[in-house]
Amino acid sequence: MPPPQNAMEIYKLLDKSNCRECGEQTCLAFAAAVYQGRKEIQRCPKLDQATIVRFSDNSKDQNNVEQNRDEYLEILQNEVCNIDLAAAAERVGADFSGGKLTLKVLGKDFSVDTSGKLSADIHINPWVAVPFLDYIRYGQGLPVSETWLSFRELKDGKERYPLFQKRCEAPMKRVADTYTDLFDDLVRIFGGKQVQKQFESDISVILHPLPRVPIMLCYWLPEDGLASSLNVFFDDTADKNLTIGSVFSLGAGLCQMFEKLALRHGFPETVSFK
Ligand code: SF4
Repeated sequence: MPPPQNAMEIYKLLDKSNCRECGEQTCLAFAAAVYQGRKEIQRCPKLDQATIVRFSDNSKDQNNVEQNRDEYLEILQNEVCNIDLAAAAERVGADFSGGKLTLKVLGKDFSVDTSGKLSADIHINPWVAVPFLDYIRYGQGLPVSETWLSFRELKDGKERYPLFQKRCEAPMKRVADTYTDLFDDLVRIFGGKQVQKQFESDISVILHPLPRVPIMLCYWLPEDGLASSLNVFFDDTADKNLTIGSVFSLGAGLCQMFEKLALRHGFPETVSFK
């Protein structure tokens, strides 16, 4: 039997008794927590050893981070139906009116209503929709500290960092190398802000994909035989305001948007959609 491939498959393995022995309110919430890496599957005492082993083997495959996000999005939408959205809005710094929670994603309104339906001023990309709901559902809403860390320094970021580098930082650098107006466009189109050069970079831009989860891109131009370089930094509260899986998704989502932007501006050689 192949290993489980996504959060819904994890849910299908569970007892579905909602007994709460794992510390979650429901089996569905537990499946989501395992998928996000917040809980070990062993925390459910009702699973047999064979299932645990089967899942554990699969969890070593980092490519799962990107698998079947649509099913996971559906789980989160179901969960959001069962929470107090007004209280969640207060916690995460969002507005709540007319039964709808709204916050800014890259400077544009992004909303979810009490039935879990999403609406936005921008295209609803699942790479952004999942972190958006995750932020509402699980984020602590801590104020931004303005202490910047790399992805690998975030909690549980170290082992995912090689994949983050491959899927986010390396392709973003390729875009920045070719499409030189990228950073100006990030400021203009996505409400970004150029900041005083950080970590001795040549260009530093801060974006707000979620209000309390800023992302800083630092780019170093090629110099004296050294290649250019690009690193992505997160506020040190990012792993408390969002799950690490969603922090990854935001990076991957931003990267895809940059590639599309470059394509629109006639730079097909930068594009490497996965
Ligand atoms: S312990 Fe297992 S069966 Fe009980 S609620 Fe958690 S996941 Fe469901």
